[in-house]
Amino acid sequence: MSSKTWTAVDDYIVSSLFEADPVLDAVLAANRDRGLPAIDVSAAQGKLLSLLVRIRGARKVLEVGTLGGYSTIWMARGLPADGKVVTLELDPHHAKVAHSNFEQAGVSDKVDLRVGPALQSLAALEGENAGPFDLIFIDADKPNNPNYLTWAMKLSRSGTVIVCDNVIRVGAVVKKNSGDANVEGARAAFSFIGGNNRLDGTAIQTVGAKGYDGFAIAIVE
Ligand code: SAM
Repeated sequence: MSSKTWTAVDDYIVSSLFEADPVLDAVLAANRDRGLPAIDVSAAQGKLLSLLVRIRGARKVLEVGTLGGYSTIWMARGLPADGKVVTLELDPHHAKVAHSNFEQAGVSDKVDLRVGPALQSLAALEGENAGPFDLIFIDADKPNNPNYLTWAMKLSRSGTVIVCDNVIRVGAVVKKNSGDANVEGARAAFSFIGGNNRLDGTAIQTVGAKGYDGFAIAIVE
């Protein structure tokens, strides 16, 4: 089966289940026009994140890796009126585009965007007693996955849902010593979740407009 079919099925999912969404279309267009890489989640995946926020009944969400804020907007839309997403981004240009996208999408009041290396922002959040978060989405530099998961544990509570993106990597995750730091980061996420007795998790392989990859999903006991 080809990636053309996966994309066609993604289009079918979106057109069958979602209302037309000019706001999110404009966000993706702004990202493209301002030179951001098209490495945001797909619409179907964004909707999954939004549903997870609702299923968890989350009021406080933490995201590591904002890019242009596409996934942030999906999650913000799943929050109640008093909910908040704190989202962390290293690149000031990405953050600037995201900031403008949040305004366009009408979610600025629900988003706290912090610019800088996520490991520093996470330490600052702990210092502010910003946690515990109800849902944490990790989608930044993959070699830091174990560090982000360590922080996620510190900033969580029993029942917190942790989602880690891009953990399958076209199946390369099964290769030991691949020499690819992103694959090693994916494997480190599996080792972390599998080896932590406070986490109960699984991973779902996904195909679609973004190719063959997957999410790890875990709950903090
Ligand atoms: N979650 C976004 C979405 O689906 O719309 C996509 C995020 S993109 C895959 C990863 C982002 O993480 C990039 O914007 C990148 O600049 C950011 N990033 C990379 N290293 C980082 C770091 N050390 N701290 C914070 N953000 C980082």
